[in-house]
Amino acid sequence: MDVELDRMEILAWLERQSPRKVLIQSPLGLRSFAEQVERLAREKGYEAFISLSPTWGGCDIAVEEAKRIGADSIIHIGHAPFLSQTELPVLYLEARYKDYTPLQVLLNDISRSLEGRKRIGLGLTVQWLSHLQRLVDDLKARSFEVMVGKPGGHLAHPGQVLGCDYSSLKDIEESVDCFLVVGSVFHAIGVALISPKPTLAADPHTQRVEWMDERAKKVLASRYYMIEKFRDARKVGVLVSRKPGQFMMGLALKLKRVLTEHGIEASILVSDELVMEGLVDFGYDAYVNTACPRLSIEDQARFSKPLLLPVEVLVALNMLSWEEVIEKGLLLNLSLNVP
Ligand code: SF4
Repeated sequence: MDVELDRMEILAWLERQSPRKVLIQSPLGLRSFAEQVERLAREKGYEAFISLSPTWGGCDIAVEEAKRIGADSIIHIGHAPFLSQTELPVLYLEARYKDYTPLQVLLNDISRSLEGRKRIGLGLTVQWLSHLQRLVDDLKARSFEVMVGKPGGHLAHPGQVLGCDYSSLKDIEESVDCFLVVGSVFHAIGVALISPKPTLAADPHTQRVEWMDERAKKVLASRYYMIEKFRDARKVGVLVSRKPGQFMMGLALKLKRVLTEHGIEASILVSDELVMEGLVDFGYDAYVNTACPRLSIEDQARFSKPLLLPVEVLVALNMLSWEEVIEKGLLLNLSLNVP
């Protein structure tokens, strides 16, 4: 599928910032755009560097790397603005699909699946956001009432969803019969983990439409199994990512204290990328994940020990009931309730 980057936006930003050195970041799959942007900057006389480090979201801005090479600004390709403040100026170049066709051809399947439901809460990943209004119109033409929520939390646009932020949908939860999420199962299942309202995933890449309820049930069952396992842990590692949008040292310190008060030995482990390979030599019985919450959902299988979300730790310690977590949503930031 064709992605578009706004050349004029890049040039205008470079002119405004007039950087001494600029670092260009891109996720895998969009690396060719980093080359294009670097060439564009170079041709205009700017000193530009391409980052090879992985980047997973707008939370993951390479500030440390930029500072290390003396860059005074960053161009981040692919994701929408996530952080309200950064140490260095950042241009977020959102990657948006130009072509509506893959979504348009899914409309019949979407309408069929939504049959019997009237009021639809709509969420799209940033890649599909250029087609938001057209999709709203097409759904209305098929007699659905469509609601689009305002951006909140880390979201930059109305109707946008992120793997860790569904505030646009939570905002309209009471007014809709169900949610429709355009993008991927990854994004849609997250909605099913923050709301009891049914969620339909529409993935224009795979041309699949699927209700998320069964998958969400399985995730919740496996999360509860991990909570039970965590209850046997005597020595726990509290993981902190130093990525600017994931850095939660205050929360990690609180969790360490709470664990210690419950007789569990706890240490804080800091890294950029949190991967099992970096943990194999340690003797921890379990881990707490204060970084990207989706690591505990999607990547738990790659960790040989329980990797609990902060809110799940409270359940393991009997400070919060599992029913309350399910009711409020596993991915909601209940971690803020850590005393
Ligand atoms: S924290 Fe995780 S889900 Fe949220 S934007 Fe970053 S990588 Fe994506």
